[in-house]
Amino acid sequence: MGQIVVLDENMVNMIAAGEVIERPGSVVKELLENSIDAGAKKITVSIEDGGRKLISVTDDGEGMAREDLARAFEPHATSKIKLHSDLEHISTMGFRGEALASIASVAQVRAVSRMKDLPEAYSVEVDCGKKTEPAPCSADYGTTIEVRDLFYKLPARRKFLRTANTEMTHIIEHFTRIALAHCNLDMTLMHNGREIYRLLGGQSRTERIAKLFPAQIAENLFVAEGHERGLEISGLLGRPDVARASGKFQHFFLNGRFIRDKFISHAVKEAYRGIIEPNKYPIVFLFLQMPCESYDVNVHPTKIEVRFDNANLVHSQILAVVRQKLLGQNLDVPAQMPRSRESVAPKEETVQHSEIRRQRIAEAMAEFFREHRPIQTQQQLGFAHPSTQPRKTEIATDTTIVETDKQQVKATRQFLQLHDSYIVSQVDDGFIVVDQHALHERIIYEDLCRRIATRTDEKLASQRLLIPETTELTDAQAETLRTNAELFEKLGIELEPFGPKTIAIQAFPGLLAKVAPAEFVQELLDLLTEKAVRLDKERLLHEVLEMAACKAAVKAGQKLNDGEIERLLAEREVVERASQCPHGRPTTIKFSLSELEKQFKRT
Ligand code: ADP
Ligand code: MG
Repeated sequence: MGQIVVLDENMVNMIAAGEVIERPGSVVKELLENSIDAGAKKITVSIEDGGRKLISVTDDGEGMAREDLARAFEPHATSKIKLHSDLEHISTMGFRGEALASIASVAQVRAVSRMKDLPEAYSVEVDCGKKTEPAPCSADYGTTIEVRDLFYKLPARRKFLRTANTEMTHIIEHFTRIALAHCNLDMTLMHNGREIYRLLGGQSRTERIAKLFPAQIAENLFVAEGHERGLEISGLLGRPDVARASGKFQHFFLNGRFIRDKFISHAVKEAYRGIIEPNKYPIVFLFLQMPCESYDVNVHPTKIEVRFDNANLVHSQILAVVRQKLLGQNLDVPAQMPRSRESVAPKEETVQHSEIRRQRIAEAMAEFFREHRPIQTQQQLGFAHPSTQPRKTEIATDTTIVETDKQQVKATRQFLQLHDSYIVSQVDDGFIVVDQHALHERIIYEDLCRRIATRTDEKLASQRLLIPETTELTDAQAETLRTNAELFEKLGIELEPFGPKTIAIQAFPGLLAKVAPAEFVQELLDLLTEKAVRLDKERLLHEVLEMAACKAAVKAGQKLNDGEIERLLAEREVVERASQCPHGRPTTIKFSLSELEKQFKRT
């Protein structure tokens, strides 16, 4: 006797529901997508009890005729595709004809719909797959779908639902994704009769982001645009200093559909590499437009993944557009000032009081700068670089910061060094505080990259050591050295065997003149042993250069003279990505005059 049976329709739908309808949030997503496909301009979502009790979506779209309303809840019923060739260029949000049938197989559903030009509306009810005939009723044009008691006949699934708050978080997430991709729509979200969002149609993306996310996010975005070979990219890129610990704030959209894609994520990560800390995720909103023929959406039941015909183009274009934009920006971190208390200041504070306070602060500031005036002290303290160093005109040719003409500097000096670690310098609209080590690190790193990372055939110029330095290697280090011989050569480090477990360093890169050769070789071997397995060749080279830059840069706690500071600040103006060190930490914090004036109540 045969064991195989063909499942009945309701079972088929329930199984499909298992894939498409995970929780109330997925119902909201599917219904919103249907409203958008129906050409709605205005959509209202009402939720009760986190969606367990009710999910209702009302739109003013084209509506359904009586016979369509009867058919919409059948499995594989869709008005969006007809021929198999339609699958090649899907421009609607839906096409699988599964959502309504799935939802109606696991809940109590009532749908009311009226087409714009027809006087009568119809309603149908479906209770876990059992459907009534459409009956006439009165309603405005458009469609309302109400979903009650989701999973009420499936206790196992119902038990899986979380608290109303958690389910609401998922609903808001789906609502937000759709609201961002469709700024032209009027969209409202209600929970238990309370309005959560009311978004007006025609808002800009930035305005929408400001409504949907914490204020700090919308205030810190750069607009980036690009268009190449049929791919249009429009992005809002978060400043590196507001990057987050998770990728939750990365939103990628393809032709109005929220998607996840590893090529896009990777391109974004690459574009921000070196200007955010490695464990952070930038906040990014990317909107891509491309012909529907150039990708396949039919690869995932909820359509959250797509397959690009030319993933390399997508990757390289996003990388180029995002990187280009970031390179052109001033990414200095704005100082975190205490929030202005203007609004909560006690009303009794008289004008006189505030005037007195202002004067006191001004005096204290003047006193501070008088005491910390560095002119006298700094001239006495030399910088510990060898006096044999020639005067150079380019900082990048040596890791030592070479002095410029002292007389000239004195006349124009607008900076001072504090705690032998930070440089405070006046800029047009305020002042900046620079972490001397971090900035110098970036300068050296960019120089190293320019010299070798971007040119495969180049190697660093090295100097022969008068007395070769020797260092002992472990077996593992010796093995690492053998497999990375090419890298050592590229760095300009010449090594020769010197006894069974010892090597002699014969030549060392001139650029790293301040670094102790044996210690550097040891650390380099440790780094390679640890990371070579995990990283590709290019990434590894960058890690090595980061380490070299860190070693060669001036340290915190090192007194610099005027000429050296002047050089650092001048390089800062021209070096790429000056606002972050190669590890992504800030080099510069900026205090703007306007913010200072606010804090000192001068405005
Ligand atoms: P799909 O969206 O993949 O076509 P669905 O099950 O979501 O499948 O919907 C089935 C059909 O019902 C749609 O193709 C559409 O014709 C119709 N429909 C669903 N929701 C609406 C709506 N809000 N307004 C008008 N028609 C709708
Ligand atoms: Mg649909």
